[in-house]
Amino acid sequence: MSHIPVGISTCLLGKEVRHDGGHKHSRYCTQVLSKHFEFRSICPELEAGLGVPRPAIHLREYPEGMRIIETKGQADHTAAMEGFIDDVIPTLANLRGYILMAKSPSCGMERIKVHNENGQVTRRDGRGMFADALLQAYPLMPVEEEGRLNDNMIRENFIERVFAYDDWMQNVAGEQLTAKL
Ligand code: SF4
Repeated sequence: MSHIPVGISTCLLGKEVRHDGGHKHSRYCTQVLSKHFEFRSICPELEAGLGVPRPAIHLREYPEGMRIIETKGQADHTAAMEGFIDDVIPTLANLRGYILMAKSPSCGMERIKVHNENGQVTRRDGRGMFADALLQAYPLMPVEEEGRLNDNMIRENFIERVFAYDDWMQNVAGEQLTAKL
C-alpha cells in the first residue's frame, strides 16, 4: 500500500531549521505516523530565504494588513514570505493532510500572538502566515498542530480524517474532475 502524502513543518522531522538552529523533533511523527504517511516537509521561513540561524520574527498588524517583522528591529520579511507562499501553495493540492508546528508566526494554526506597530502584543488569536494561506486554499484538508496530537481523541480524529480525505480525493473528487474533462 502506498503511503498517504501529508505535509509537515520541517522542524518536526528533527531537522535543524529553527531560527536558533534547533529543531522540534516529534518522534510520534517520525516513528509512528511515517509508517502510513509520506511526509512533504516545508519550512516556510527557511524556504522564503530567511536562512539559519536567523533573527526571530513575529506578526505585526498594520491598517493595511498583517506583516512579518523581526522581533528586535524593523526588518520586514513579509514580501519574501508572501512570494514563497504564492509559489508553494498551488503545489500542495495532492496532500491529504498537514501537521503544523505550534506557536510559530509562520506555521502556527491558532493562538499566535499579534503585535501592534510598536511591537506590543494586542491579541493572542492570530494564525501563522503560511498556515493561514494553507487553510484558506484547502479548507477541506485535515490540518492539525503537532502538540494537539498528544490528545488521543484529537489524534484519532485527525488520522481518520486524513484517510477519509484520501479516499474522497481518490474517488469522488477524481471522478468529478474526470467528468469535467
Ligand atoms: S515552525 Fe515552521 S517556520 Fe518555524 S522552523 Fe518549524 S517549519 Fe520552519
